[in-house]
Amino acid sequence: MTPTAPTLLRPTDPADVSRLLAGARAVAGGTDLLVQRRAGAEAPTLVDLTGLAGARPAVTSDDAAGELTISAVHPLTDIANGLTDGAGVFPALTAAICQFASTTIRNRATIGGNLVTGSPAADTVPALLAAGAAIDIVTPDGGLRTVDLAEFLLGPRRVDLAAGEWVTSVRVPQPPVEGGFRKIGGRRAQAISFLNLAWQWHREPDGRLTGVRLAMGSVAPTVVRLRTAAAVLEAQLPTQDVVDAAVAAIDADISPIDDLRASAHYRRRCAAGLLREALLPPSGTARADQYVTPTTREKNQ
Ligand SMILES: Cc1cc2nc3c(=O)[nH]c(=O)nc-3n(C[C@H](O)[C@H](O)[C@H](O)COP(=O)(O)OP(=O)(O)OC[C@H]3O[C@@H](n4cnc5c(N)ncnc54)[C@H](O)[C@@H]3O)c2cc1C
Repeated sequence: MTPTAPTLLRPTDPADVSRLLAGARAVAGGTDLLVQRRAGAEAPTLVDLTGLAGARPAVTSDDAAGELTISAVHPLTDIANGLTDGAGVFPALTAAICQFASTTIRNRATIGGNLVTGSPAADTVPALLAAGAAIDIVTPDGGLRTVDLAEFLLGPRRVDLAAGEWVTSVRVPQPPVEGGFRKIGGRRAQAISFLNLAWQWHREPDGRLTGVRLAMGSVAPTVVRLRTAAAVLEAQLPTQDVVDAAVAAIDADISPIDDLRASAHYRRRCAAGLLREALLPPSGTARADQYVTPTTREKNQ
């Protein structure tokens, strides 16, 4: 059955949003919501948050506080441009956006939508979780509450957001210059991740890694930190033995399941390959694909 067209409201002043959201639903890029609508999800009145993007920059850096503020309502393209134009450095998020869907989707999709959809496979979430993000949420009375991203993610498609609340921005402690993101999907573009990994660390002058933070998607009910593997790496030189130990430690951090995209077995092998690849560049010999055989037979075994 074709859904009836919703009423679309497009505020440009953030102060108007809470009032308009009473009994309505937020929409940003619409790249998840419109798919849900086709599947029959109801949304009688939509409040389009993208009109708010003109009121502020996509990314701001507060050097004194050592913090980056990233808009939840700008398209991902604007966020990536903000990060590469010198507004701040966040290599893992920049890499995640570059591997996200396709240019057309990146020109529409937002971080707010990616967070609120609550998918364990969401591609911006590992970088934000690894960086220790805090989510700024506007409450129905126009107040502000802040919640750690780790507590915001409650389960598959479930987040800590009440009716009438909306996400205005995400704040992270300024990430180190060394970080990255890699995903494995069924193809290079327009692919939901079978698995994804974000990492960040400082590399000390003697080569040891400190402040190691890793987060992985599609291996648990929510995106998760790889705390055990990170602890193995902390303050160590990433020698072959240390990398082997960190890769072996991943099993304690993840609980993948078989689903229509990939088997748990395949995901465990990909998880090992992705971490090895993150730790052993740029010799070029340690690509994740070399550690997995992405055949349909294996994915389903
Ligand atoms: C072809 C295609 C390819 C895709 N590829 C990827 C991919 O590679 N990686 C990936 O992670 N995802 C992918 N997706 C999923 C989707 O693009 C992302 O989840 C995207 O970030 C959603 O953002 P949006 O702004 O479009 O959200 P919308 O669709 O506008 O909204 C999604 C949900 O979030 C709510 N919402 C939106 N913004 C806010 C806010 N600021 N505050 C409160 N609630 C809000 C809406 O009410 C709705 O429930 C893909 C989707 C499509 C259609």
